[in-house]
Amino acid sequence: MSEKITFTPISYTGWDSLSHLLAEVKRFEVKKILIVTDPFLKDIRLTNKVSEPLENAGYNVQIYTDVVPEPPLAIGEKLVSYTREHAFDMVIGVGGGSALDLSKLAGVLASHDGNVADYLNLTGTKHITHKGLPTILIPTTSGTGSEVTNISVLSLETTKDVVTHDYLLADVAIVDPALTISLPPKVTAATGVDALTHAVEAYISKNASPVSDALALQAIRLISNSIRTAVSNGDDKQARTDMSYGSYLAGLAFFNAGVAGVHALAYPLGGQFHIAHGDSNAVLLPYVMGYIRKSCEKRMKDIYDVMGFSSANLSQEEASYKCVAELKRLVEDVGIPSNLQGFDIPDSALESLTEDALKQKRILARSPMELGHEEISAIYQAAFDGK
Ligand code: NAD
Repeated sequence: MSEKITFTPISYTGWDSLSHLLAEVKRFEVKKILIVTDPFLKDIRLTNKVSEPLENAGYNVQIYTDVVPEPPLAIGEKLVSYTREHAFDMVIGVGGGSALDLSKLAGVLASHDGNVADYLNLTGTKHITHKGLPTILIPTTSGTGSEVTNISVLSLETTKDVVTHDYLLADVAIVDPALTISLPPKVTAATGVDALTHAVEAYISKNASPVSDALALQAIRLISNSIRTAVSNGDDKQARTDMSYGSYLAGLAFFNAGVAGVHALAYPLGGQFHIAHGDSNAVLLPYVMGYIRKSCEKRMKDIYDVMGFSSANLSQEEASYKCVAELKRLVEDVGIPSNLQGFDIPDSALESLTEDALKQKRILARSPMELGHEEISAIYQAAFDGK
């Protein structure tokens, strides 16, 4: 069997890697730069760390802040129109997955016609045909891995859909943990478990390969070792650095191997109840893994080991049960509600959640266990009951 492995052309990682920004921008010989960020990051002057060196070097920099978490389609449409009207020649995304996803979309669709809706994966009719503006992505959360994926996620009325093409890959990713120090504990927890979920799902994915396995296991090791410290002591440089590398590696892993059941079931929670992406993945992670455990015992044993435990004297089955228990403990330790009731989801919603999850066929196809109506409904029920 052969596989396609895709990486962002250039990445800078590690503390103060933002210092490479100016030299990278110069390489593209551009003049007018659009920075896409969210209003809060501008208010706390985090965006200035990106805009000021560019302005001081004489670039024309516009800062666009009409970004909201889990951006709805309309926000994407508005940004793409704005980008088309103003003839920028570079886009820089600064923020969490929400700002980065919108940046790639703007970079590519600036030179395509039609609406963003025309390019959606599930319902769109148009295709991306060429590369857009040069794009640099600078994450300020350690979570989505958006800086190294070719996906832009948009919220629709009751679920989410994506625009995806390799032309959405950034030209440069700058992953500087110093930019995550200001993340509050709740966002650190939700985005951190999001990254962990990417790595776990990439590792158990039917599309996993030796390359994605290496990336995923190292991501699980770093994140499970440091997430508790990053949440309880956000100033801890080492914990922030581990989380930053962990989410970057997890992004590369899932971009190449795909995600599976947790994401398929999490999207409707975001769509129907507007629960943040990280929280919806986090609350479902132990329940999906508990349900599919039997189909990937060996892989769950490996996960248990890289989480810092030893399966040496355990059978695969025993280790896989312990792995589920440790994932649940980790989610609880970082303060994320451990069942759907904790997010005020009524059990009357279980059927509509199941119906929407079933629509994510491409994602579900990567699950090591086939997940149909009965299985998905049982997982939501378990996540509701907390059992
Ligand atoms: P986010 O971008 O929505 O940000 C969450 C909150 O954190 C915002 O209020 C933001 O202002 C704040 N924040 C961000 N950085 C901060 C910092 N350094 N200090 C203080 N506050 C900060 O959150 P996210 O979880 O990073 O992104 C979620 C979005 O990414 C969702 O739409 C999700 O579907 C998408 N996503 C995309 C991919 C992909 O591959 N493209 C993968 C997973 C998720």
